[in-house]
Amino acid sequence: MSKNIFLSGIYHETHTFLGEPTTLKDFIIYHDKEIINENIGNGSPTDGFIEYAFQKKWNIIPGIQMSARPSGTVDEESENYFKKNFFEKLKFSSHNIDAIFLILHGAMVSKNHDDFEGDFLRDIQSFLSKENISIPVVAVLDLHANVSESMIKNSTCVYAYRKNPHSDSRETAIKAASILNDLFLDPKVEQIHLGTNYILPPTGVGTANDPMKTILEEALKIEKNDPEIICINVMAGYSYADIPECGFSINCCTRGNTSQAKKYLDNLVTILEAKIKNGYPKENSLDEALKAIDKITDIKKPILLIEPADNIGGGTPGDATDLLNRLLQTNHTGIVAIINDPEAADTCHKAQMNDEIELNIGAKFDLFHGKPILIKAKLEKISDGAFELENKKSHLASMMGTKINMGPSAVLKNDQLTLLLTSIKTPPMDLGQLISQGINPKDAKLIIIKAAVSHKDAYDPIASQSFYIDSQGLCTSNLKRLPFKKIGNKVISLD
Ligand SMILES: [Zn+2]
Repeated sequence: MSKNIFLSGIYHETHTFLGEPTTLKDFIIYHDKEIINENIGNGSPTDGFIEYAFQKKWNIIPGIQMSARPSGTVDEESENYFKKNFFEKLKFSSHNIDAIFLILHGAMVSKNHDDFEGDFLRDIQSFLSKENISIPVVAVLDLHANVSESMIKNSTCVYAYRKNPHSDSRETAIKAASILNDLFLDPKVEQIHLGTNYILPPTGVGTANDPMKTILEEALKIEKNDPEIICINVMAGYSYADIPECGFSINCCTRGNTSQAKKYLDNLVTILEAKIKNGYPKENSLDEALKAIDKITDIKKPILLIEPADNIGGGTPGDATDLLNRLLQTNHTGIVAIINDPEAADTCHKAQMNDEIELNIGAKFDLFHGKPILIKAKLEKISDGAFELENKKSHLASMMGTKINMGPSAVLKNDQLTLLLTSIKTPPMDLGQLISQGINPKDAKLIIIKAAVSHKDAYDPIASQSFYIDSQGLCTSNLKRLPFKKIGNKVISLD
């Protein structure tokens, strides 16, 4: 008999040090059939689940799906809106469903919930037990989830991305759906969770490098060699959440005994500790980087100046000017940068094409991302800011599918700089962002990249080298600059 699967999701990575809350208008919200219609073919995890469900002839019962770009703490209206709709829809169909499948991020913090997903999964379990319903609850998680004991205790199985950049988000959902399929045949599994004392900055958790690389390889070996292990999820965590559950953790779903699973997880933590230094990589000052760059007589391929402190995929506003401002004070040319500044983009849309205009750009969101820069440049292009991903498996597809909206955008150019202004902050995870606006990133000498790791699939292949630059911003890799209060004695730096 065909299975009925209740499908819903909430996706948000919450940066609790940002002053501005995330509100309902920041979320893309799909109800009922929209969840299927809007996700089919868009390369997202939900798209992956739908494909698997259709293949298995499962009947999808869609509930509610909300997603927003990484940003500040989610406000009360948004958390209540999601929960109200979710439980109303679940109640309506609860006696007809065979499972609940959730597309989550796992690092959401809201006004009333430090551990939103943990509390949400607990509420689902108490609803199901009140209704006397016993069904699997399977969830997809982002590798940056801050996983809590409650998330593991109140779900049947969670399955997380293994790659950072997240080129595997769609296939992760397919794998999670196949685990659900196995659970229909044999529902008896157990999950265990092992937290650690480490909070690693985003720059330290790329999966091409240690510690993640070796730990993931070892986890994969265990999954392959022990048929009782369904999965081991290596959770990098997300460092900008001031909550007790912040940080690196591992969890395991097993059909075998949990003491064996616990041994596996303990061994993986031993690897983490042996390689922990790599989890806190050092960054350059701009001066150090420019000293090295100035020795290169002819820049044939772009050099990337990575600005993790304004890592848009980590939640910051994308309008930090500290690095760009200092760079413009040197004699460097061939610079490409992207600044999110709706006000400046609007000014450009009101100007004449090819006009030389003067305007203040950037650093308008808050006081933590530098000062506005006065730019004099020619207006080369305006657009609605819509583009399609060049790489359908881009990290960006995990967050928002393959069709991206940067809002009204503009390109300005002067002797030093080609600048893309956007109205909706858009992480630099795909070359389509620049190419769609008439900027060929391969022609640049220096490209400023507001990211930590997620840009790598797009930009590393076209670049000669990268420098990670320490600059002002709330996604700083130097976690000691942030006013943590709730993390107890967790390690945020090795200094
Ligand atoms: Zn992530």
